[in-house]
Amino acid sequence: MGSKPIIVVGAGIVGVSTALWLQRAGRDVILMDRDAPGSGASYGNSGLLAGWAVEPVNAPTLWKDAPKYLMSRDSPLFLKWAQLPWMLPWLARFMSHAVDHKTRRIVENMMPLLTDTVMQHRALVAGTPLEGWVRDSKCSFAYPTLKDFEKDQYSWNMKALAGLKPNILTGGEVQEEEPILGPAIACLAQLEGHGHITDPGRYVALLAQHFTQEGGQFVQAQVQDFTRSGDHVTQVETSEGAFECDQVVVTAGIWSKELMARLGLRIPLQAERGYHVIFENPSELPRNPLMITKGRFGVNPMDMGLRCAGVVELANHLTPASEAPVAFIRKQAAEVFPKLTYSGTQSWMGFRPTVPDCTPLIGQIGESGIYTGFGHQHVGLTSGPKTGRLLAQMITGSTPNMDMRPYAPERYAG
Ligand SMILES: Cc1cc2nc3c(=O)[nH]c(=O)nc-3n(C[C@H](O)[C@H](O)[C@H](O)COP(=O)(O)OP(=O)(O)OC[C@H]3O[C@@H](n4cnc5c(N)ncnc54)[C@H](O)[C@@H]3O)c2cc1C
Repeated sequence: MGSKPIIVVGAGIVGVSTALWLQRAGRDVILMDRDAPGSGASYGNSGLLAGWAVEPVNAPTLWKDAPKYLMSRDSPLFLKWAQLPWMLPWLARFMSHAVDHKTRRIVENMMPLLTDTVMQHRALVAGTPLEGWVRDSKCSFAYPTLKDFEKDQYSWNMKALAGLKPNILTGGEVQEEEPILGPAIACLAQLEGHGHITDPGRYVALLAQHFTQEGGQFVQAQVQDFTRSGDHVTQVETSEGAFECDQVVVTAGIWSKELMARLGLRIPLQAERGYHVIFENPSELPRNPLMITKGRFGVNPMDMGLRCAGVVELANHLTPASEAPVAFIRKQAAEVFPKLTYSGTQSWMGFRPTVPDCTPLIGQIGESGIYTGFGHQHVGLTSGPKTGRLLAQMITGSTPNMDMRPYAPERYAG
């Protein structure tokens, strides 16, 4: 064991989980973030513990769907066309994975990170004041018609690889199950045994608070660079000065790209921007979380109201939010929840950090003492606690009970 602390850069769900598991292993940890914990992508997501989300966005069906979506004004995929030339190299690599055998490999790689998510969250919150926060739930995929469900066969074939088989509800069963849904939804494909969080930003913030109450240090600082002696990291340079360390874990979500660039590594990490709309003081709530398949967003009955969160906008993380995705979510919500009334709305944009093979980078860069914990695309809340546990095991020298090679950062950082 080294004598200097381990610094975890980025206090989203991945960083906070890593810090907690390292602390439990008896290590001296500093958690750093330029903002308050839980204010990045982890703040505004759908809150779904999506053990079912094994299929990547770039499945083979995207070849057919993407042009259709991009030509339509009423679709869940948005693109800042002016940024297309700059994005093309990433897009080409991303789409090169949209073939069946590669999708199956990604599904295989994602399964161990996702399928035991509810258990992993429970293990993370055990012994903390957050024990009641991990809710058991069903997740229902809402389709306009049974035919639309049948057209989504590829996606269900991928979920079947993870042993998931839906119960199908049609006709009157749909509104009996979820009275909030109007006639625009005539089929629910329902999965049991999943979970959700009713305020993901606060969940992460309270976990970070627990970490400090247990003796961990949180430093609000912008990490700017790394100092190395030979190949090994010795300190982190920040807006608040230099901090010595034995190891660093980079869990800075989309912003990990800039930090990797400081090491001379060009990681193809692209923001899949997503949006949420919160309907405050809603007249009704769904009984369980829903996925609105036509709108590609999740619906979660949350503490602050009804949150609809999802869609994809391809654009960088430096450009301001757009209005069209928010308008789209509002329109879709009005269609599926025709009787919903509310006192007001709030909207938000966040950045899903995505590499071309949609598989997070979890591991050490060479023998540098610098570990990566980023690239969790659409499923960082789901897989963050397990990622943190795996990183803590790797750092403290115990062997994770799974093959870590698919996540090795070398495939992009080599
Ligand atoms: C609309 C939407 C819906 C989603 N729904 C779900 C869902 O239902 N389920 C699910 O599992 N996932 C969902 N996701 C994905 C999930 O939110 C992300 O994968 C996850 O939050 C990523 O967590 P993270 O810890 O890697 O990054 P973040 O939460 O983004 O945290 C990174 C942190 O690093 C800090 N940071 C960055 N650079 C520096 C620096 N130089 N110095 C110091 N600090 C720095 C930032 O301030 C930030 O706090 C959704 C995402 C979106 C956008």
